[in-house]
This record gives sequence, structure tokens and C-alpha cells, in this order.
Amino acid sequence: MTDKMQPIFIMPEGSQRNSGKTAQRNNIMAARLVAETIRTTLGPKGMDKMLVDSMNDVIVTNDGVTILNEMNIEHPAAKMIVEIAKTQESEVGDGTTTAVVIAGELMKKAEQLLDLEIHPTVIAKGYRLAAEKALQILNNMSETVTDNDDDVLKNIAMTAMTGKGAESSKELLSGLIIKAVKSISEKEDNKILIDIENIKLEKKTGGSIEKSELINGVVVDKEKVHSGMPRVVKNAKIALIDSAIEIKSTEIDAKIQINDPMQMQAFLEQEERMLKNMVDKIKASGANVIFCQKGVDDMAQHFLAKAGIFAVRRVKKSDMNALAKSTNGKIVTNLDDLNLEDLGNAGVVEEKKVGDEEMTYVKDCLNPKSVTLLLRGSTEHITDEVKRAVEDGIGDVASALKDGGIVAGAGAPEVELAKELRKYSDSLIGREQLAVNSFADAMEVIPRTLAENAGLDPIDVLTELKSAHDQGQKWAGIDVFSGKVIDAWQNKIIEPLKIKTQAISSASEVAQMILRIDDVIASGKQPEPPQGGMPPGMGGMPMM
Ligand code: ADP
Ligand code: MG
Repeated sequence: MTDKMQPIFIMPEGSQRNSGKTAQRNNIMAARLVAETIRTTLGPKGMDKMLVDSMNDVIVTNDGVTILNEMNIEHPAAKMIVEIAKTQESEVGDGTTTAVVIAGELMKKAEQLLDLEIHPTVIAKGYRLAAEKALQILNNMSETVTDNDDDVLKNIAMTAMTGKGAESSKELLSGLIIKAVKSISEKEDNKILIDIENIKLEKKTGGSIEKSELINGVVVDKEKVHSGMPRVVKNAKIALIDSAIEIKSTEIDAKIQINDPMQMQAFLEQEERMLKNMVDKIKASGANVIFCQKGVDDMAQHFLAKAGIFAVRRVKKSDMNALAKSTNGKIVTNLDDLNLEDLGNAGVVEEKKVGDEEMTYVKDCLNPKSVTLLLRGSTEHITDEVKRAVEDGIGDVASALKDGGIVAGAGAPEVELAKELRKYSDSLIGREQLAVNSFADAMEVIPRTLAENAGLDPIDVLTELKSAHDQGQKWAGIDVFSGKVIDAWQNKIIEPLKIKTQAISSASEVAQMILRIDDVIASGKQPEPPQGGMPPGMGGMPMM
């Protein structure tokens, strides 16, 4: 540094700045890396990833969003790609890998256009036009489904689970999924409303996947509090209580001086009377089952057992809410308010052994607005992966019912999109045409990856697929098991339209956003104390 001029710092020490082409290329690279990581998991023949977290817990999964969540990605542009997966997960519940792989390919194609000196804003505009057109094309080619088409719904659930941990029992599970989704769906002036939160997924390790079951009600992972209580209660009248059935200990430290054994006796009797009184109130309401969110005193347990009331304590809040929805009961805080109308109803409440633990089943509810899928698997890793596959199935069936639109999969819609988008680009002029063409090419990443992951030659497969589509076979897709081009529709590979539209719109929006960035300014982290240094605030202490 010369002594003529003082350098000017407008940002704190440790901040970093990347601008222009460097910033753009770095961002594209980071985004592509994210997509590269998960592309090998796409499709029924996709591989799994084994993830080990900082606690050495292991997850084995094929689920895009789970992998990305566990990776703790830090690069800002890479994080934007992860966001696509999260949006896809919350909006549809499936298709996370598809969305990210498309985004990665759009970035790759953009890089090639940048090499041709095409300005990023032109590329972004081309991508926007192409994405709009793509949604139109998809809508036009889609079919419809209603809640009467159980066969189609079943195919949707089966497609979601093909090649996943749940594969071996996908017949059984898809049946359960459809029943579950239908029972919690509500119709409101011809619109179907579904809140999949109302399907509670409970896992229990031990036993085969085939033992999974749907309960028209709730399964609570708890046992009854007292062995003297009945194991089964029919025509259950259920009190849901979110306060403790105990004598409140006083806030203030009070000393009670007892000089005489009689006084002690009186004191204990007083406590007993209060607890008895609480149980009497429950009994008077007509309840024969209670679920308490807090504790239940030993003495109260005894009185409840004597009254033949089935009780479970320390129930999770989410379970309390599910119970309220399933049994049509009201959660009550003050026992004085408890009356017959507040009680929930269930055909049966029963304690049952599942695996080697007791669980409480609240089932045969009339018109339950919350149901439980109890998923089984021989090990924890298997049960977890079954749960993720079932979540995809639920998401897809719910999404198809809500939206009404469905398409075939196996790469068919993407090849059709590529074909139609190329036609559309012919109608454009200028450099945007190139960007629309690149967008069209990018769509082919899905069939290409499906083929690659199945060990097939991607070039052969694509050539065959394209020629089938050119001959008007709009559902021509790739059978990853035989390597042949098939009619994906007739082969019952069916997916909700929303998987595709959501994936394309978010991938394209994020690609455009990343392209518009020409400066990355990072203010840097707070400087850490030097290795072996003193903790902050210790400075200036005299050394010993
Ligand atoms: P995502 O996270 O994107 O849902 P998946 O691993 O579930 O990723 O793969 C979905 C892709 O696999 C879709 O393109 C779908 O059409 C395709 N697919 C599903 N079942 C089959 C099948 N039997 N044959 C070929 N492709 C299939
Ligand atoms: Mg999927």
C-alpha cells in the first residue's frame, strides 16, 4: 500500500464481497451442486442416502427434502434451492427431488447462455415466459379426478410409494391412505377442503409393515394410569381435561406445625376429600374415560379406578387436539365446568399391546375429523422411511382431490412440455427465444435422470421418448424396470398435476432470482476469540 492514499472501508472487517460474473458463477455453481447431490435419488430406481448427524444419529432416506434439511447447507444461493424443496413439501407434500433437479438444470442451461454473452435479465425473462406457457400446457394435458375414483386415487398413492421404503406393502398402505384422506376431507360448496394435519401418523417399531392400520380416531402412545381400571370401555364418554387432577401445592412456602397425630390425620383426610371431590365431579358429568394433559394424583387414580373410569395422564397437547377432533369433545380446564355436552364419544377405548408397549386406542368414532395411521416396521429406520413414503402418498392423494387435476408420470409430462415449449419458442423473436429453448431442454432432465438412475442409456431413452411424443403419444414415458417406452397412463403411473406445476413455478422463480443477483455482500461473522484465548470479558484480568 502506498502512503499517498488511505484505503476506504465501508464495511466492517471480515466482510466479503463478490460481484459481477464471479458472483453469478458462484451462485450457479452452488445451486447446481445441491441438485447434483440429490438427483441420484429420483424415481423408483433412485438410490438412498445415509445421513449421520452431529449426534451420530443415522437416517437412511430417499426423500429429497429430508436429505437437504439434514445437510445444513450454508451457501446463500444453495439455501434458496433448499427453499424450493421446502415449499414443494408444504404445498404438495411430494415432488421435492423433481423440483430441485429442475432448478439445477435451469441453472446449468443459464450458465451456457451466459457463456454466449446473453444478458441475465434476458434469460430471466425467457424463463418467466416459458414457465407461464408450461403451466398452460400442463393444464391442457391434465385429466380430472374426483373422490369417487378410488382406483385412480389408489394409483396415485402407489406411484408415490414405488421404490420407497414402503414399496413392499404399497397395496395395503395406499388403501389406508385413501380411507384416511377421505375421512378427514370436507366439502364446502363443491370445493374439497383437506387439512392433512388431521391425519396423525403414529409409528411403532416391531412387527411388519403389513400390520399397519387405520384407526377411526386416535392412538395415544400411553397406557392407563392404574391397573385397576378397565382395559376396554365401550360407548366411551370421554372427558378431555387440560389441568392437573392434583392438589395444587401452594406457591408460598408455608410451614404447617402439627403437634398432634389427630391433626395430621385431619390434614390428610382433607386432601383425600378434595381429590375425591374432583373425581366425583368427573363421575357426575357421565364420563367413563378421561385424558388429562397434566398429572393425576395417586389417590385420584385410586378413586378413578374404583369408579371404573379409564384414565390416561400427561397426554401431549397435539394428541389432546386430535382427540377433541376425533371424538367431538371439548377440552375443559375447570372441572366445575365439565358436563355431558363437553364429553367426546367413541365406540371403544381400549388399551392394547403394540410391539412390546401398551398404547391406548380411541376408535370407532362417529364421523371423526381426525384419524390415525399406525405405521409399523421391523426397525426404527424402516418405520421412519415408511412414514416418509406414506407422507408423500397422503400429500399426493390430498393434492389430487383438492385440485382435481392429474397427469401421468414416468417422464411423460416433461417430454411433452419440452416438445410444446420448443414449438412456442418458434413464435418468439430475439434472444428470449434461446432462453425458452433452454427451458424446454431443461425439462428433459427428469426422464434423463430417471433413465440414468435405472442404469439405462439416457440418450437412447430420450430419443425413443421424443419420437413417441412426436407421434402424438402424450403419455409416453419410461418404464424404469424394463427400460421400455410405455404409456404411463395405462401403466397406472399417475401423479397430481400440482406436483408438476408447483415444481416448475418454484424452480423457475428461484432460477430467475439467482440470475438477477450480481453482487454478494456478506457482512461476516462476529470474530471468534483466538484459539486458546480468554473468553470475552476476561480481558485485563491479571494473569496468575
Ligand atoms: P420426488 O421427490 O420428486 O417425488 P421420487 O423419487 O418420488 O422424487 O421420483 C418421482 C419420479 O418418479 C416422478 O417423475 C415419477 O413420475 C417417477 N415414477 C414414479 N413411479 C414410476 C414408475 N413406475 N416408472 C417410472 N417412473 C416412475
Ligand atoms: Mg415422490
